Amino acid sequence: MSKFEPLEPVLVLSPHLDDAVLSCGHFLYANPSTTVVTVLAGAPDALHEGYNSKTTGKSYAPDAIGVRRDEDRKAMDFLGATPVWLDLLDADYAAYRPPTDYGDVIQDEIGRVLNETRPMSVFAPLGLMHADHLAVSEACLELAINSPFTWYLYMDLPYGLASRRVLSRRMATVSRRVQLVEFDPYDGEPGIKQRAMGLYASQYAPTRQSFRKGFDATMRGTERYWRVDAPL
Ligand SMILES: [Zn+2]
Repeated sequence: MSKFEPLEPVLVLSPHLDDAVLSCGHFLYANPSTTVVTVLAGAPDALHEGYNSKTTGKSYAPDAIGVRRDEDRKAMDFLGATPVWLDLLDADYAAYRPPTDYGDVIQDEIGRVLNETRPMSVFAPLGLMHADHLAVSEACLELAINSPFTWYLYMDLPYGLASRRVLSRRMATVSRRVQLVEFDPYDGEPGIKQRAMGLYASQYAPTRQSFRKGFDATMRGTERYWRVDAPL
């Protein structure tokens, strides 16, 4: 394996407002001026009871997402990254999505942002555990084929550390479609991810509660990245 040194500028695609920090926080801290695009950072104009209202205390969806965007801005400032928020809806707001295939919408929007920003390297989630992560990952794998950019997948944390079975299954599925080149585990400064994640005040406790072992290992631990090469 070799050292992970992607060419800059780097653009990280984050399914939700916090995933880039959970999964790539050490890389972001060591490589300031990275752009972080959160794909599912939109809100319907509606009152909605669900995950976002429960964690933020706001029933009006734009207020709930407003709280989460404020947290993201603070974390991005701390890491020296630039946030971009797409107005697409996460699974909590699935009832407000258009009746068309939302995977196509996600793919189109990511493609549009990449054409505007023209990074050298794009990071996408491997796509573990959560339907939104899988949807973003699938859209990215489609875009990665015949792409002018160099694509990398990152291990979704804490999910990848919470279940080795889910990780190896998804690795096997993706490896049948593209060639994955693995790098040395990526370690960062101790305490940095904990501090950055602490800025997501509404998310820290619920995420830790759901995945305690994987979450604590994520705060200490190693990030993992693979380069996506041409289809086999
Ligand atoms: Zn997520």
